[in-house]
Amino acid sequence: MRLILLGAPGAGKGTVAKLLTQLDGSVQISTGDILRSAVREGSDLGKKAQGYMTRGELVPDALIMGIMGERLMENDCKSGFLLDGFPRTIPQAEELKILLEKLHITLDFVVNLNVPKNIILDRLTTRRTCSNPECQAIYNIKSMPSKVEGICDKCGSPTIQRDDETEEAITKRLDTFNEQTAPLVDFYNNEGLLLDINATSSDAVVSAIRERLGS
Ligand code: ADP
Ligand code: ZN
Repeated sequence: MRLILLGAPGAGKGTVAKLLTQLDGSVQISTGDILRSAVREGSDLGKKAQGYMTRGELVPDALIMGIMGERLMENDCKSGFLLDGFPRTIPQAEELKILLEKLHITLDFVVNLNVPKNIILDRLTTRRTCSNPECQAIYNIKSMPSKVEGICDKCGSPTIQRDDETEEAITKRLDTFNEQTAPLVDFYNNEGLLLDINATSSDAVVSAIRERLGS
């Protein structure tokens, strides 16, 4: 499958993407994960992106398009992909359209994960992420705690709160989303590609996507 996952921070794009990869070998492409690993490695890209990310702002479109232009040409994308956190602005969506045409790739559709704001806020402040870069499993201290508090079930590394998950950065990320990313819902609706889902449970989201795919 070839899908874009849209939704506010904390809407569950990453969780849904991981579930979908298990269905047919499509790969999850998360610009947030790519950027965080660049920051950890201290690469050029990482140095350029770090400040924006910590402040809860978007990284400039040109940097993101550079990453995605290369990523979509890699071999593993041939079996399908789930774009998680990209595109995030109208210019990114327009450039993606041109890029996909050039690569002769057709999207199946674009999923909009609709989650009430109070649930989003609650999820973001209670989210914990495995600190092991190879693992990055996601937990929630209320709804999906690890078996041992603060320790990843999968790999035993400490689970941490991301540094953009302070209350201040979260508020900023939600504002950024409303201003710059929410308009993509109309953009893809006009393209006839939108599937809007009430996304309070990730299993229900996966079922709705499978139904639309006819699988
Ligand atoms: P979330 O969806 O939970 O906010 P992500 O992991 O998708 O978090 O992204 C983390 C940060 O990385 C964003 O706040 C932003 O600074 C940057 N980022 C990720 N994807 C993009 C993108 N497509 N365009 C611009 N910035 C991005
Ligand atoms: Zn882990």
